[in-house]
Amino acid sequence: METKYLFVTGGVVSSLGKGIISSSLACLLKARGYRVTIQKFDPYINIDPGTLNPYEHGECYVTVDGHEADLDLGHYERFTNVRTTRANNVTTGRIYRSVIDKERRGDYLGKTVQIIPHITDEIKRNVMALGKTGDFDFVITEIGGVVGDIESLPFLEAVRQLRWELEADCLCIHLTYVPYISAAKELKTKPTQHSVKQLQQLGIQPDVLILRTEHEVPPSMRRKIAQFCNVAPDAVVQSRDASSIYKVPILMHEQHLDEIVLRKVGVTPAGEPDLGPWRGFLSKMDSAAGKVTIGLVGKYVELQDAYKSINEALFHAATYLDHRLELRYIHSEKVNSGNVGDMLDGLDGVVIAPGFGQRGIEGKFVALEWCRTNDIPTFGICLGMQCMVIEFARNVLGLREADSTEMNHNTPDNVIDLMEEQKSVHNMGGTMRLGAYACRLAPGSRAAEAYGATEVEERHRHRFEFNNDYRARFEEAGMKCVGENPDTRLVEVVEIPSLRWFIGTQYHPEYSSTVLSPSPLFMDFVKNAINYKHEKEQQHD
Ligand code: GLN
Repeated sequence: METKYLFVTGGVVSSLGKGIISSSLACLLKARGYRVTIQKFDPYINIDPGTLNPYEHGECYVTVDGHEADLDLGHYERFTNVRTTRANNVTTGRIYRSVIDKERRGDYLGKTVQIIPHITDEIKRNVMALGKTGDFDFVITEIGGVVGDIESLPFLEAVRQLRWELEADCLCIHLTYVPYISAAKELKTKPTQHSVKQLQQLGIQPDVLILRTEHEVPPSMRRKIAQFCNVAPDAVVQSRDASSIYKVPILMHEQHLDEIVLRKVGVTPAGEPDLGPWRGFLSKMDSAAGKVTIGLVGKYVELQDAYKSINEALFHAATYLDHRLELRYIHSEKVNSGNVGDMLDGLDGVVIAPGFGQRGIEGKFVALEWCRTNDIPTFGICLGMQCMVIEFARNVLGLREADSTEMNHNTPDNVIDLMEEQKSVHNMGGTMRLGAYACRLAPGSRAAEAYGATEVEERHRHRFEFNNDYRARFEEAGMKCVGENPDTRLVEVVEIPSLRWFIGTQYHPEYSSTVLSPSPLFMDFVKNAINYKHEKEQQHD
């Protein structure tokens, strides 16, 4: 079958969940046996989101091949179980850089280089790149931003041209918003009509409309929208707020979105998608008997997207263990030795978040000391692992001024230090140790037992590392380096075996947790948090 290209655009307002809709459609097509990938085109000038702080676009996701990517790629992987790469996330910055490099090389043979055709051609080349590998039946392309933005114009122009070039092998889905005016008790379709009109003015007629809404959009209203927007009546689908994003594929299937899409690109739907395992996860979610309370100590806790992959990985694990996840965000800047007992009271497990820089770091040390001395299941991720090492150095090894050179250049005990290969790095963008690397785990360690393996591969995003000069001292005092890179000996995992569950990973296991394949390390952490909760309950009985 020829590769089919499905474009997803958004109108009216941002944050409608194009990423979730794209992921849900991909999930359904995958469950029908098709090979699917999703890519995102972001209209901003940054080459990638790696240099953005989480206040801008939430978490920075990392692909196996070491690309710092938009967090929607996390949804793509979690919904499809298909790994993404740097080809799955392209920004305006990357498009322009490539065109300007070509211009400097003389590739344009003296022509004036222009947005049309040169930028749009470069966009089209990127849109088609994954399809041309022959690895996919469907390539879903999400165009970031909202129709009407100046910066998304070249992308939409590229989509317009591709519709002619790809003919029947392509389709446009437009996601809009149907607001409910509570004073009038009415849903309003005008914003949708205007948004579709804007798209039409750019030469794109959507084939499918998805209406994001908080209330049921009645069939009569959907017919009216179809008529005004020049779309087939059965191709107007509503996406009501769901109690979980993971229910959206089912809600879309109930309205036949997958069948509508297949028919429109000339494929006759055969049978039903195999949603058994997906529904299995949802029914566990709905019938979860217990509750597990996890604290996440970080400095971006007021942002719901800053630690997206950690939230989801904890949620996957809790759900498979038949528990509802109660995630409590703990602002690391607010934790001090006077209030730590109250702030961390009642938690069954604690995650110390990744991060960069000094802000909020002291609170992480205080929280860690409390967790370590009270033997609470504790999971340190990246900076969180580095903090575990520093706290242990200060309070157990007695190296009172131990630090990471990221926080203090002049520390006498640089237990965390800049990686050798980073010492000559000056540019900030895309220069960290990024992507998947192998890790060898010590047989018999808790981490090895959690994975059920001694060779694992996880993704990274850091510049600093455990200083191996101190390794023997840590190990003698009870903090073991149980995971290391087989080639460089870089310490990847530390644990304190005498405690219930106290593990820090230099890597980010959260990036590889998906609905159908949860992270073994998160599973083990949450399992131990649940056990700890039961222990506490028994003590109180
Ligand atoms: N700032 C630390 C480093 O660069 C940790 C990074 C992180 O937590 N992702 O090594």
